[in-house]
Amino acid sequence: MPTYNPPLRDMQFVLHEVFNVVDELKACPKHAEVDADTINAVLEEGGKFAAEVAFPLNISGDEEGCTLDRATHEVKAPKGFKEAYAQYVQGGWPALSCDPDYGGQGLPFVVNQCFYEMLNSANQAWTMYPGLSHGAYECLHAHGSAEQKATFLPKLTSGEWTGTMCLTEPHCGTDLGLLRTKAEPQADGSYRLTGQKIFISAGEHDLAENIVHLVLARLPDAPAGSKGISLFLVPKFHVKADGSLGERNGIYCGGLEHKMGIHANATCQMVLDGAVGTLVGQPNKGLQAMFVMMNAARLGVGNQSLGLTEVAFQNALSYAKDRIQMRSLSGTKAKDKPADPIIVHPDVRKMLLTAKAYAEGGRALLTFCALLLDKELNHPEDKVRKDSAELLALLTPIAKAFLTDNGFEATNHCQQVFGGHGYIKEWGMEQFVRDARINMIYEGTNTVQSLDLLGRKVLGNQGATLKKFGKLVAALVEEEGVNEKMAEFINPLAGLGEQITKFTMEVGFKGLQNPDEVGAAAVPYLRVVGHLVFGYFFARMAQVATRAIAAGSTDPFYTAKLQTARFYFARLFPETATLMRQARAGSRVLMDTDAALA
Ligand SMILES: Cc1cc2nc3c(=O)[nH]c(=O)nc-3n(C[C@H](O)[C@H](O)[C@H](O)COP(=O)(O)OP(=O)(O)OC[C@H]3O[C@@H](n4cnc5c(N)ncnc54)[C@H](O)[C@@H]3O)c2cc1C
Repeated sequence: MPTYNPPLRDMQFVLHEVFNVVDELKACPKHAEVDADTINAVLEEGGKFAAEVAFPLNISGDEEGCTLDRATHEVKAPKGFKEAYAQYVQGGWPALSCDPDYGGQGLPFVVNQCFYEMLNSANQAWTMYPGLSHGAYECLHAHGSAEQKATFLPKLTSGEWTGTMCLTEPHCGTDLGLLRTKAEPQADGSYRLTGQKIFISAGEHDLAENIVHLVLARLPDAPAGSKGISLFLVPKFHVKADGSLGERNGIYCGGLEHKMGIHANATCQMVLDGAVGTLVGQPNKGLQAMFVMMNAARLGVGNQSLGLTEVAFQNALSYAKDRIQMRSLSGTKAKDKPADPIIVHPDVRKMLLTAKAYAEGGRALLTFCALLLDKELNHPEDKVRKDSAELLALLTPIAKAFLTDNGFEATNHCQQVFGGHGYIKEWGMEQFVRDARINMIYEGTNTVQSLDLLGRKVLGNQGATLKKFGKLVAALVEEEGVNEKMAEFINPLAGLGEQITKFTMEVGFKGLQNPDEVGAAAVPYLRVVGHLVFGYFFARMAQVATRAIAAGSTDPFYTAKLQTARFYFARLFPETATLMRQARAGSRVLMDTDAALA
């Protein structure tokens, strides 16, 4: 059976020693009073919930899955899920970073981010039930009418009701411009929605008393394509004027998907049969409003893979110390045993360190993103809010795609560390791999994320935002450029920074002549920029560790940080050279292949 220990020390390192979140947030009136002790105490309690309540349901939930009662259209989550959710609500966990105006605790998003990493490590499928509510909450907070906010935000904040995002239809996933669900205006100002949605996570379940569906649909006079999409709020149960629940609305689960992983999360086919909804935001501007939820969900999906990477690493590490096979190439290490523990073998160490580096880099990136979100929403200065929003927009597709690709690789490596036992259910490793796979697909496939990064976020503004990130890199290079102890981290980072400027210009220039060049380069491009971002954070983590050691610390924690950073720059970062070569191969080798693909 796998185990899980919340990585609180690692979180504290990133929050307080690398990013100094408490000082960074002092300027935001809402968070000026938050201190490190409060953050640490909340995360310690949150870690207990994750490890003691959510984690024990991970394997049983996977084995049992969800069940649909076809007569009532009701879905039951696996045994224990409802009770765990009740505990989560009772503990006030849904309200952690919600607005106090709606009953929230008003803590910064960085805290919620770390809490959710632990929940995802513990049980990704369970975490998706409350997880989607956060995106729905943010979307309504940003775009809901006063009445929608007053009715729905307190219930999403308390966790009494959960949220969903209903975008996908059988014939449209990536290309939402094709969607067909119809919304007919009614005399009372509401709308009746008809159509079919598929793959809706947590679309129906028995954890909460009501479900708030955010549904994309078309008005009768809507222009074709993505410019004619509106967003509607469709509750599972109607809500009466006094806030109590009324009749069942015409939205129900018509079927459950049987899938590779996250078995315990209900992936629902949703039928809208004249369901009553209200418009969120402006007509035909639904995609813009939904983007608030999608951006939150993209960071959330990156966090799912971070969680899985961490828990898979922890289990692979303890197995590698325990399992004995063969002798070390450089001579017997465990003389008292008939063979050495497999952790002595270089390649096993490479697999473990890969997972560790991906977890630590991912944690730094997502913490930085959550801090940007806190500043975007709460900083008193316009310029800081605008710059934070811009940088976050650049980093979001990287957080989604780079972390989920890494997460799949890392969980695979950790499974491999177990040899054949990793393939057997009882160790829990094959579940981590299966669960990690969906993260590369939903919330915009990783290919779509890379097109968003290269096409919109980089070339779309002639590299202006990327240059802003480049300035952060340049400042660190400037600061540490003459520090010999930092050279092994700073030199490759500075080198890649320079190469990326040229590389981006090249891809942009070729793209002007032939747009397929952008499509051909986008996926390797995202990984290259992902490494620039990780390289920057690993150098910053190494800087903190180097300074702590120079100041006399003998805590092995800092030595471990340096060793992981060293491994990252030596073994993972160099793939950028191959990736740039692949991208430079251009579109011809892909597009002039009609014979090969006939
Ligand atoms: C378990 C699960 C849970 C989900 N949860 C939700 C949910 O809660 N709400 C919701 O609305 N949806 C949900 N989805 C749907 C998910 O977001 C979509 O599956 C995803 O966006 C891809 O859409 P598609 O499956 O239609 O694939 P398609 O859009 O048909 O894409 C097929 C392939 O073509 C590629 N492709 C498409 N267009 C391009 C392009 N322009 N350039 C390059 N490549 C391209 C894609 O990357 C992909 O590899 C879920 C899906 C699953 C499996």
